[in-house]
Amino acid sequence: MSPPLGSLVWFRRDLRDHDHAALSAAITDEPPVWCAFVLDREILDALPSRTDRRVEFIRESLTELDAALRRRGGGLIVRHAHARDEIPALAARLGVAAVYANHDHEPAAIDRDAAVGRSLDARGIAFRTGKDHLVFERGEILTRAGTPYTVFTPYRRAWLAALTPAHVAAHDTAAAAGALAPPPPDLDDRVPALGAIGFHATDLASVGVKPGMSGARTFFRDFRRRVDGYADTRDFPAVRGPSYLSTHLRFGTVSVRELVGWAHARALERDGRGAATWLSELVWREFYAQILWHFPHVAGRAFRPAYDTIAWPDPPGNLDAWRAGRTGYPIVDAAMRQLARTGYMHNRLRMIAASFLAKDLHVDWRSGERHFADLLLDYELASNNGGWQWAASTGCDAQPYFRVFNPVAQSRRFDPRGAFIRRYVPEIAALGPDEIHAPWTLPPAILAARGVVLGRDYPPPIVDHATARQRALELYGRATAPGPARARRRD
Ligand SMILES: Cc1cc2nc3c(=O)[nH]c(=O)nc-3n(C[C@H](O)[C@H](O)[C@H](O)COP(=O)(O)OP(=O)(O)OC[C@H]3O[C@@H](n4cnc5c(N)ncnc54)[C@H](O)[C@@H]3O)c2cc1C
Repeated sequence: MSPPLGSLVWFRRDLRDHDHAALSAAITDEPPVWCAFVLDREILDALPSRTDRRVEFIRESLTELDAALRRRGGGLIVRHAHARDEIPALAARLGVAAVYANHDHEPAAIDRDAAVGRSLDARGIAFRTGKDHLVFERGEILTRAGTPYTVFTPYRRAWLAALTPAHVAAHDTAAAAGALAPPPPDLDDRVPALGAIGFHATDLASVGVKPGMSGARTFFRDFRRRVDGYADTRDFPAVRGPSYLSTHLRFGTVSVRELVGWAHARALERDGRGAATWLSELVWREFYAQILWHFPHVAGRAFRPAYDTIAWPDPPGNLDAWRAGRTGYPIVDAAMRQLARTGYMHNRLRMIAASFLAKDLHVDWRSGERHFADLLLDYELASNNGGWQWAASTGCDAQPYFRVFNPVAQSRRFDPRGAFIRRYVPEIAALGPDEIHAPWTLPPAILAARGVVLGRDYPPPIVDHATARQRALELYGRATAPGPARARRRD
C-alpha cells in the first residue's frame, strides 16, 4: 500500500473557493487536495417536501463551485449518500493523510462530525477542522468572569473591542500548480440533477434569489450602493432596505470575513451609520451562534426553563390559519404569504408573525419555529431559534413577556401606506392606506364601496388582540411566578 498522500476538503456550509479556511489550510499543509461535497441523505431524506428551494440553491451553487475548482485544475467529487459513512470511505479510497472541514455548530452536525472523526481515526486519517463561518465562535467572546454573554449589547461591545484586522483577513486559497487534484475518473460524476436525488425543480429563479458565489457578489454589490440608507429603511418591508444576503451567509457562498471587514471599515468613515447598523446585525448572527453553542438545550426547549411550563392552549385551527396567511390580520397574513411564496420573510415581519403566533394565537412557539425551518431559504438553527425565543419572550435577551406587539400598530408604523400588504394580500388591495391595516374596524358602507366582503374575500380577525394579549399575560405570568429559573449551560 502506498503511504497516505494529500488531503480531502469536505465542503458543507461553505460553498466557495475563495477565503475558505479549510481549503486554505489543506493547500498549505497537505497537497494535493481533493474536494468533495456530500448531498447528505440524513438531511435530505428528512426534509418535509421533495420540492425545496434550498436543495436547488445548493445544487446550483455546487455546479458553480465545481466549475471554479476545475478552472484551477481541481473539481468537486459530489456524492449522494450518508456523509457519516461516505467521507471516511472516500478518504480511504483516495488514500489521503487528512480530511479538512470548517466547523458547523448545529447539534446534528456536531454529532455527525464526531462520528466521522472516529471513523477517520480508526483508519489512521487525521480530521482537521477550524473556524470559518463566524468571526468569533464558541468561547472566544466571554465576560470578564469567563461566562458566556446572554445579553446582546454587552456582547456586541466586547465583540467589537476584540475585532482586529487579522480576524477579517482572507484565508488565501491561491494554489500552486498541481495543488488541486481533479476527481479520479471513477468518481468524476457531474453534480447530479435534482431528479437524480429525488427532488423537483422549484421556482428559485423567479423568487429573485441568485445562488452561488456569483449570486452573492451581485447581492453584495447591490447592497454596497444602498448601505447608507440601511438604518432608516431596514424596518420597512415594502422598501428594498436589507441586504438579502442571509441565504448566502447560510451556505457560505460569501465569506463573513469579507462582509464584516467591509462593514467595519465603512462604519468608521463619515456617514457610516448604515454600515454600523448592518454590522450589528452580523453580530446578532454570532450572538445567537454562541448561545446555541453554550446553551444547546435551546434547540427544543426554552432558554429559561420556567417558560417550558407554559401550558400552550394551541386552539384548533390557529396554527393552520397562521401558516396559510389567513388570520384576518393583514400584516401577519402578508408576512406568512411572503414566506410561502418566496422562502424569505423580512426581519420586521418575522418578529411580528412570531409574536402573533405565541402571544395572540397562543400556539407553542416551537410549532412556528418548525414552520420557518421548513420554508426559510436562509434557515439557520441558531438565528431562527434565537429570533423565535426573542419574540416569544422565552429566551435570553428576549423582550419582556408583558411587552406584546400590537399587529395593527406595527402595520401602521412599518407599512404605513399598506404597499407591502397590497403586494401579498391582493383581496383587500382596494382599501386605502389608513383602512388596510384593520379592515374589520371599517364601517360596512366603506367596505361595500371598496368591494370587500369580510368572510368572503378575506377572513375576519381570528382573535381579538386586546383579549388575546390579556390571556397571554396570564399564561406567562403563571409560568414565571415566583421567578424565572436559571438557564442551563454547556459544561
Ligand atoms: C423569528 C425569527 C426567525 C429568524 N430566522 C432566521 C433564520 O433562520 N436564519 C437567519 O439567517 N436569520 C433569521 N432571522 C434573523 C433575520 O430576520 C434575518 O437574518 C434577516 O431577515 C435576513 O435578511 P437579510 O439578509 O436581508 O438581513 P440584513 O438586514 O441585511 O442583515 C444582514 C445579516 O445579518 C444577520 N442578521 C440580521 N438580523 C439578524 C438577527 N435578528 N439574528 C441573527 N442574525 C441576523 C443575517 O445573517 C443577515 O443576512 C430570524 C429572525 C426572527 C425574528
